[in-house]
Amino acid sequence: MILRAKYLITGDGRTCLQDQAVYLDKEGKIGWIGDAAEAAGRYPEEMVKDYGEATILPGLFDMHVHFGYYYSQPDLDNYDDYMVAYYALEQAKQSLRLGITTVRDLSCPPNLMKQLRLAGQKGYVTVPRIIHADAGICMTGGHGHQDGVEEADSPWGVRAAIRRQLRAGADWVKILTSNRGDIPEFTQEELDAAVDEAHRQGVKIAVHSGTQPSIQMCIDAGFDTIEHGTFLTEAQARQMAEKGIAWTPTITAYTYLYEQTKQMIEAGVDMDNPIAARAVHDQAFFQPAFEAYRDNFKKLYDTGVTVLAGSDMVLYKAPPLPIHQELGYMVDYGITPVEAVRTATYNAASVLGIEKETGSLKEGLAGDLLVVKGDVSKNIRALDDVLEVYLAGKMVYTV
Ligand SMILES: [Zn+2]
Repeated sequence: MILRAKYLITGDGRTCLQDQAVYLDKEGKIGWIGDAAEAAGRYPEEMVKDYGEATILPGLFDMHVHFGYYYSQPDLDNYDDYMVAYYALEQAKQSLRLGITTVRDLSCPPNLMKQLRLAGQKGYVTVPRIIHADAGICMTGGHGHQDGVEEADSPWGVRAAIRRQLRAGADWVKILTSNRGDIPEFTQEELDAAVDEAHRQGVKIAVHSGTQPSIQMCIDAGFDTIEHGTFLTEAQARQMAEKGIAWTPTITAYTYLYEQTKQMIEAGVDMDNPIAARAVHDQAFFQPAFEAYRDNFKKLYDTGVTVLAGSDMVLYKAPPLPIHQELGYMVDYGITPVEAVRTATYNAASVLGIEKETGSLKEGLAGDLLVVKGDVSKNIRALDDVLEVYLAGKMVYTV
């Protein structure tokens, strides 16, 4: 199969080629990329699909998902293990429709992602590539404990929880150590132990941290990725760049919360209504969060810290897996579309250690790619116009 289009973004953050063709070989790999005019001569037997005024780019990564997060559903009583599995499967389908061919799940009901991946390997279902951290770990009463995150305390308690989750099949470890307040949850000693335990076992470790001084504690501990980093400073981003700590800003999730809350307040607040009163209270966090991303993103990006695209959208009726929107905000805040695409392709693959398998359009890599209408290098919003998606050379979505 040969795919050709006017534009091709390789994923390296710089390159957008014109009039290229991609040959997907029998093993589902990218066998060749080159001048579209040459393709037919090289592979006379192959079927050619010409998408015209369209862009071919590497399959996207969403580095922060929760496929099994059903806690925001209004009919929670219906969510037994079966329903949660169907729910997660729907998320998986949705990701393929959007061109997301790899996800990193950072907290799900125990075993869910392991089994979803296995079901995919058995051919029962079609799912993206899955890397997961099983349930994740917080302190007793810490952020996420009501949403299925495992509670653990003390350096040895945290190590034991990591060992349990690795035994259960986790590929990564996820720690949660801040919520919206300024008081960090885990102590430095606990964070250091978590990082040491994960690294000692050859596994990478992500941390949910958005506020100060929690962010600095996590940088000092040496996590591999910091999730949110909402109030990250330039000096801290520089430290992260030096230490090889990547940043998943999740701009969209906070912006969405900010906008929803704003609408609610603008509609008129009756402070006797607990939902409205809560909105006013929440906005004291969401507004500075939204502004921090808007005002600082480009400065932080320019420090050279590795930026990762992650959506982290778990709200009821919110747009699912809004990774296109995440890249859209990055462009609104000052980077180029081609740079933004790299945060959801090459950067993600390299942090996951699978950059020799997928994450770029390069000969020898897996045929994970999407084709969208228009020129993504000029207009990042073209990503919303998905024409076709391929996973390991197999078409998994078409309009
Ligand atoms: Zn999350």
